[in-house]
Amino acid sequence: MADSKKKFIVLLLTALLTMGLFSCASNGPASAESKKPAANITAESTASTTSTDQAKGVWYSFNGLKFAMKVPADLKIKAVSKDKPQFTGHNDRIKVSLRRWNQVSYPNLKSLAALVKKRTGRKIRQVRQGGLRMVKVLGLKTKIKYYILMPNGDDYILTISPNKDKHPKLKFKDIKEEAKAIEASLRMPKKIPSGAKRIRLARTKFPKVNYLVLVNSSHKIPDKWMKKISVVKTVNSLGKKVTAERKTYKAYLRLQRDLEKNDEVFIDLDFGIRTVKEQQKLIDDYTKRYGAAYANRIAARPGYSEHHTGLALDVYLIIDGKEVYLNEEMEKYPKVWKKIHAKLAKHGFILRYPKNSAYPYEPWHIRYVGKKTAKKIMAEPGLTLEQYLARS
Ligand SMILES: [Zn+2]
Repeated sequence: MADSKKKFIVLLLTALLTMGLFSCASNGPASAESKKPAANITAESTASTTSTDQAKGVWYSFNGLKFAMKVPADLKIKAVSKDKPQFTGHNDRIKVSLRRWNQVSYPNLKSLAALVKKRTGRKIRQVRQGGLRMVKVLGLKTKIKYYILMPNGDDYILTISPNKDKHPKLKFKDIKEEAKAIEASLRMPKKIPSGAKRIRLARTKFPKVNYLVLVNSSHKIPDKWMKKISVVKTVNSLGKKVTAERKTYKAYLRLQRDLEKNDEVFIDLDFGIRTVKEQQKLIDDYTKRYGAAYANRIAARPGYSEHHTGLALDVYLIIDGKEVYLNEEMEKYPKVWKKIHAKLAKHGFILRYPKNSAYPYEPWHIRYVGKKTAKKIMAEPGLTLEQYLARS
């Protein structure tokens, strides 16, 4: 009998606990708000934001950014596009804004997350949702805030907050339900949802770049080259800033993703652009430390380095999560380089100083020339850009 008594008590406890849990769930903060009609909170607001409107929703698709979200039907959107494309949208209760953050591009979500954490001093969470890569700032009581990494490496800040311009007393908890619904709908659609309103942000016009430019010890960088290209700044896994020509960088991102996904090879950028000034500084440093003879042998004269073009990149390896960037260390991974070099042409790059050429072998120095030319050059092992250009 003692056993059955015990069983009964356990059952009773379980039942009580379960009831308790259920009652918690049904009276929790989220559903308490859902019972509150919108009109209660902003009695003076127009009746336009009814729950029916909410349910219908409208997809706004920001095509240039491949970004879409479902917003209340009455949200008025204003799009601005200059150097920093952005938009804001509002109705009586809610405000949504998406704006460019840093003009810096990130090779991956991890590096964006690290910077957001540092800058905001808050806890963050990396979120992958609907094809988007985002960093959510945690612990905010007045708004929802995301840093979004667009496919082209651009960073945007998205905030969803109460429209205090209309109703200064409106609190985030009053709009929480709607804000969460927008948050849940964020995505990067392959197809624009039918019935979506589209916002097109005019894109900045970029200069036409000569991707076959030749810069070597006898060919100087063309005059005012930097004015003829547009550049992208990025931060590598070591926290170092790297700058590269825009299209070159985009092609690099595709190469990097391809290698991660299909070869489990991880790379990052060590050097992109070195300006003529930076090259001079490098030579001065070397001369001071090692003498002029060494400096001249190891570094190109200012004006004669391919790194001036922005089309040349030095990559380093990340092996088992650790950065391997010293030349002599990197040379220990010929199999990894083989995998990298096999993917170069597909993304418009060539190995600029291949084995068995007039140059010392540099497996890490890659150069963007565009897919068509890259395929031709890489089809002939040992062929240099100089030889290719002399031929055509
Ligand atoms: Zn290099």
